[in-house]
Amino acid sequence: MAYQALYRVWRSQRFEDVVGQRAITQTLKNAIIQNKTSHAYLFTGPRGTGKTSAAKIFAKAINCPNSQDGEPCNECEMCLSITEGRQEDVIEIDAASNNGVEEIRFIRDRANYAPTQATYKVYIIDEVHMLSTGAFNALLKTLEEPKEQVIFILATTEPHKIPLTIISRTQRFDFKRIGISDIANHLAHILKEIQLPYEEAALQVIARAAEGGMRDALSILDQAISYSEGTITLENAMQVTGSLTNEMMDSYLQHCFQGEPEAALENLAEILAEGKEARRFLEDMLLHCRDLLMYQQAPKLLAEKVGYLTETFKELAEKIPADLLYEWIRLLNETQNEVRFTNNANIYLEVATVKLATQGPKQKLAVVSNNQGTESIPARTNDSQELQALKQEVQQLQQAIQQLQSGQPQQNQAAPVKAEKQNTGYVGPRVPKEQVFQVLQEATKDHLQQVRQVWMDLLQTLSVTQRAMLKATEPLASGPNRLLIAFDYGIVCQKVMNDAPLILALQNNLSKMIPDYAPTILCIAKDAWPEVRQAYVAFAKQQPQEIAELENEELTEETQTVNVVTEAQKIFGDLVTVVDD
Ligand SMILES: [Zn+2]
Repeated sequence: MAYQALYRVWRSQRFEDVVGQRAITQTLKNAIIQNKTSHAYLFTGPRGTGKTSAAKIFAKAINCPNSQDGEPCNECEMCLSITEGRQEDVIEIDAASNNGVEEIRFIRDRANYAPTQATYKVYIIDEVHMLSTGAFNALLKTLEEPKEQVIFILATTEPHKIPLTIISRTQRFDFKRIGISDIANHLAHILKEIQLPYEEAALQVIARAAEGGMRDALSILDQAISYSEGTITLENAMQVTGSLTNEMMDSYLQHCFQGEPEAALENLAEILAEGKEARRFLEDMLLHCRDLLMYQQAPKLLAEKVGYLTETFKELAEKIPADLLYEWIRLLNETQNEVRFTNNANIYLEVATVKLATQGPKQKLAVVSNNQGTESIPARTNDSQELQALKQEVQQLQQAIQQLQSGQPQQNQAAPVKAEKQNTGYVGPRVPKEQVFQVLQEATKDHLQQVRQVWMDLLQTLSVTQRAMLKATEPLASGPNRLLIAFDYGIVCQKVMNDAPLILALQNNLSKMIPDYAPTILCIAKDAWPEVRQAYVAFAKQQPQEIAELENEELTEETQTVNVVTEAQKIFGDLVTVVDD
């Protein structure tokens, strides 16, 4: 007999066998026992969580003459014909391939006839969200006039794409992602049945990679089996899933904890170069951080659950404070969301890496005291370090306010606004303030508009990698000789600034799109922008003569302010909001 995929062979045939959806299967069984079934059901949930299996079991249980406790017998002709897909009263439709009105009309017409062999005619429409609007309307008509012996089971991974009019006519069940231990237990059960030896840790790795879907878990297990030589080992599982080895993750986190973003970035690059996928990396890293937290609370429990803990892992768990782990988890979660809608996941990963590596209390202090310049505040260890950091920030702000009030331009105008590269690691790109001021002085709204108009087209002229770097950017100000670009992320900004070929390509292509326009290109991180802009407005106030020459003669205090605003609006257009005191 030809080899059959595990997920086909081991498809659940009874509600009892559906893993991880106890609440749903119990409710369905009760409905069958009490004869209180609905005319239409909506099964929603991620792929591989048992929706269509449950639908078929339901079709059997409701039609099986030997049904007991709401379960099908799986032995009678009715059960077998449904399992084998040859029962004409149980109709399975894949909406992904039949999304037309005609098909649904056909169903509607056929639904008018009573079942010939079964007690209930059951229509199972999989991926129902794929139906066309017309087909949905036809389906709605059918659901509006329910027939006694006809039941619809609609299954979907994307319930938000289904019209509310349909949803409101169904009884809805949300299938949950299946828990890792539930999946691992099921895999263990199967392997015992088919008498294949395995390492416990291998199953954990597979279960994790399946992301809550049993079908995926079984496909991965299939691959691991073909990879293995007799025993399914952790190594097989790692190879098949592309999971990061623990050492790699440990070393990455170690660098993050020690505030060594560059080393962590190198680590990340190696991991990605090995062909690891960004989303998988994030998922693995999240689980790893959670494991560290769990180990701190219940080491034995975790050891039992995971089955493999390295020495480095244990060391890390002892060293890294829980608060920091929570913060890392929050950051990783955030990145997971960002990555969902982008093709440039790696950039977000790099940004996340820098953030992770600068989250430690030690790093925060280092950044602040660097900004402090010559004046350094000794960190008292008994003071909460966060408090220290806050105190310093307040002090900095006070200084800045004083400087603004006294009308003195900040002494460290040429100094970086955020902080620059230092030994402890990367904290953000250097902002060349005086150069930014030059752009702002010569900037006009017309130039900015011109650049903005061609910006998207300009990005299209670049290579894929180059375009990726400039994805989260916008032109901020531009004049005859200079152009200022704002970046969402400091680290990307830094990279672009140091990427001479990229800057050159930008200039060249820009000059092709706007004839004779080849400005010097300057980059700034959006985080740094408000401060620089404010400094510039203050700076402009200091130069009433210049503005006077441009605008008019005599300037009262009031008109001066007006002029600064006009000046700012001239440059930034709608980016400037005037707030009245
Ligand atoms: Zn039966």
